Amino acid sequence: MIRFRLFGFPVTVEPWHWAILAFCGGALGIKDGEDLLPVLLFMAAGAVSIIIHELGHALTMRLFGGQQVSIVLHGMGGHAICQGARFSRGQHILISLAGPLLQVACGLLVLVALIMSPDISSGATGLGASPVYRLLTSFIYVSLFWAVLNLIPVYPMDGGQILRGILGPRRIQLTLQISIGVAIFFGVFGLFYLKTFLLSIFMLFSVVENYKALKRTRTPGGW
Ligand SMILES: [Zn+2]
Repeated sequence: MIRFRLFGFPVTVEPWHWAILAFCGGALGIKDGEDLLPVLLFMAAGAVSIIIHELGHALTMRLFGGQQVSIVLHGMGGHAICQGARFSRGQHILISLAGPLLQVACGLLVLVALIMSPDISSGATGLGASPVYRLLTSFIYVSLFWAVLNLIPVYPMDGGQILRGILGPRRIQLTLQISIGVAIFFGVFGLFYLKTFLLSIFMLFSVVENYKALKRTRTPGGW
């Protein structure tokens, strides 16, 4: 467990976070020592990118008066947590948007810097990509992919939180039903078109969790 403070926020990185980053970075394909470096660079770039994402949420929470805000990176991604704060629906929407937007902005900034630095870009040619090139391209890839994934309207991802904010607490059942439908769509899309099991497993997990939450809303006092 790694713990540190960033802009005054306590940050905790749980061991499972490194495991999932290693898996996404291709750890299962490691055959020798040479294959290890790209995976480690992906893990470092991924952790920094996801911390930036959570920082976007945390800074907006603080802006709206949230106190005791902290950041946790876990096996499913990350969370910015605020103890006992009551935000309005509009503030909730802005807090949910701030994470992916800051992450995309940083990803695009690095992309522009990479395009404008022929010395680093040339690291992609020759016998193999240079470590700096690999680090920066991993950062861009994770930043854009993670932000777009999180904006998919599936509760409790950011897109689902925004949907909940727009529809309001009275239409929580509709939010969960839309989440289930969208998760099924992306699960099938991931499996048959993108040929990736990871997205489909994640969406299957979301379908189950949203279905359980939907059942709770139908039980008096359940939600
Ligand atoms: Zn987020």
